[in-house]
Amino acid sequence: MKFGGTSVGSAEQIERVAEIVIKQRAATPALVVVSAMATITNALEDASRHAASRQRSGLDKATQHIRTLHQDTMRALHVSASTSSSVNEKIDELEQMLESVYALGELSPRAHDLLLSYGEQLSSRLVAAAIAMQGSVARAISATDLIVTTDRHGAAQPLLEQSTAGAAGSLLPILEAGTIPVVTGFIGATADGVTTTLGRGGSDYSATILGYCLDASEVHIWTDVDGVMTADPRLIPEARTVMELSYSEAAELSYFGARVLHPLTMTPASLKDIPIYIKNTLRPEGHGTCVSRTASPGDSPIKAITSINHASLITVQGESRIGVPDVAAKVFEALADAGVDVLFASQASSDYNISFVVHQKDDERAVKLLTARLKAELSEHSIDAISLRSALAIVAVVGDGMHGNPGIAGKVLSSIGDASINVVAIAQGSSERNISVVIDEGEAARAVQSIHDVFIGGKQHGK
Ligand code: ADP
Ligand code: ASP
Ligand code: MG
Repeated sequence: MKFGGTSVGSAEQIERVAEIVIKQRAATPALVVVSAMATITNALEDASRHAASRQRSGLDKATQHIRTLHQDTMRALHVSASTSSSVNEKIDELEQMLESVYALGELSPRAHDLLLSYGEQLSSRLVAAAIAMQGSVARAISATDLIVTTDRHGAAQPLLEQSTAGAAGSLLPILEAGTIPVVTGFIGATADGVTTTLGRGGSDYSATILGYCLDASEVHIWTDVDGVMTADPRLIPEARTVMELSYSEAAELSYFGARVLHPLTMTPASLKDIPIYIKNTLRPEGHGTCVSRTASPGDSPIKAITSINHASLITVQGESRIGVPDVAAKVFEALADAGVDVLFASQASSDYNISFVVHQKDDERAVKLLTARLKAELSEHSIDAISLRSALAIVAVVGDGMHGNPGIAGKVLSSIGDASINVVAIAQGSSERNISVVIDEGEAARAVQSIHDVFIGGKQHGK
């Protein structure tokens, strides 16, 4: 059972989480995975950045927030003296580490991961304490002792087989003894014991990694919405809960911006066919969404519409078709080496160019990298230019039911056209499970609304 940042965001929420866990535990042994309290990972990011750039006031403000929120929460929960001193010790440790970063004026990716890990180290102690206060036995456990990862700081990948032996070995006896383990989400450690993080939003991934290691029968992701919805409910208020999704639909949706699940969450679960239920901590009785291999198609070929803002389109423009495959190989190799995520790529056969979309934060780095890697081609003029267009969005329409269902792409494009939105680029995955369009960022909300109206909203498919 994984609980997200909002679900553990206050004393009241943490008490609610404890109730949900204890109720579940009465039926089946359960392992709990927690995120940092809402706002804390961002505060840790701020504190790290301000420490590294020696900005005293920014650093103090962020650490003050971290200390105050945890202390206020402990006071409201009436935790024991031993919990309180263990939490305060961790905060002191964190502040000392930030002072070292401040003194050095330098922050390595390794130190950054270690600093970010404190949010979950703190919240797991609070949640374990709240469960204990409601009469069950619980123990806070650090995933650095359970999940073995690669050393790619900021986006470490779990080594599933290596993790299984250790995680099962330490967790199963705890579960069998009737204790509820409360494990830190988001983090792991290399085989040498160096703390790593799985990427922002990674606690969902931690839950399915541990589900895999323990051969769990189900993974429950508890969050602040009723499940995966037909669109981001903050954008489209009439969005509805999707009852069932296949692993690939859920992976595609999260990859294209549905923040409710980390994009890699589905991988460990699908390897062992473990169903994932997404549920609302505030409405535990609701049905939620079930993600599994055997999801039913639903009544629309489209399950949901997502969007990613702050995207940039990079185009490598050639002079002739000669060498295009070679250039494509170099482009994607260079970006992969540098860890730049390519969100979308298209290559028109009549055009001598390759276009692809990256997150805007990576765009300048990507262009520099490509300019260096394609130096020979640029000087020989087999490539004319590498151009960049920013402030774009990708809107993606996802559903297994699109496969072999003609006319969907046309309908998607006409719904965007009807809203007078200009399409910059289009791609359809060969799985026919996804159609993505690139548009100006300012138009994203309207595009999602327009597609939602046509495929899901009240009129055609209303229930
Ligand atoms: P948690 O802290 O529980 O991990 P997140 O904030 O990471 O929660 O994810 C939940 C949020 O994801 C929701 O509040 C919602 O705004 C956003 N979201 C975006 N797209 C969707 C979608 N298609 N369905 C549900 N939620 C979505
Ligand atoms: N606390 C981490 C984050 O904010 C992980 C998570 O919430 O899933 O990114
Ligand atoms: Mg999340």
